[in-house]
Amino acid sequence: MYPWSHFLFGLLIGEILVKAGLFGQIAAFTLAILAVLVDLDHYLYYGIKHKNWSLANAWNAGSIKHEKGERTFIHHWKGFIVMTAVSAIIYLFSKVAGIIIASAYYSHLALDFCSWNFVGIKGKEKIKGSKFLLDIPKYEIFWDVVFVAGILLLLVL
Ligand SMILES: [Zn+2]
Repeated sequence: MYPWSHFLFGLLIGEILVKAGLFGQIAAFTLAILAVLVDLDHYLYYGIKHKNWSLANAWNAGSIKHEKGERTFIHHWKGFIVMTAVSAIIYLFSKVAGIIIASAYYSHLALDFCSWNFVGIKGKEKIKGSKFLLDIPKYEIFWDVVFVAGILLLLVL
């Protein structure tokens, strides 16, 4: 999924945890930012493999070409175990920090690996016009709207 979807879903999870009384708005925002940063591995992989640190090239390789191997260990079982252990250790020192890191990471994986197209929306929205090519599944746009609605609902309740 695209970075803004990770941000919105992370923020939605953060707002739910704010409502649960676990932490405040800054923590919810931090969770959303960290949920986006999990995908830094795509950029690092691209930069190291191609010896090219162009953000646009890395973006297009991930967004359009879906290069094999761009998802590093952090997106797989080893990363899951490492991040769970890291979150647990951090939790021992700061419950809020541990919850933020775990929630950011798990929300990211939930978007990447769960089949969100059970809503059955077909097609993609191709957007060109900048160096950053977009090929957004329409079901992802649907979920972005749902996430925004959920965030707004939680903010006004
Ligand atoms: Zn990802």
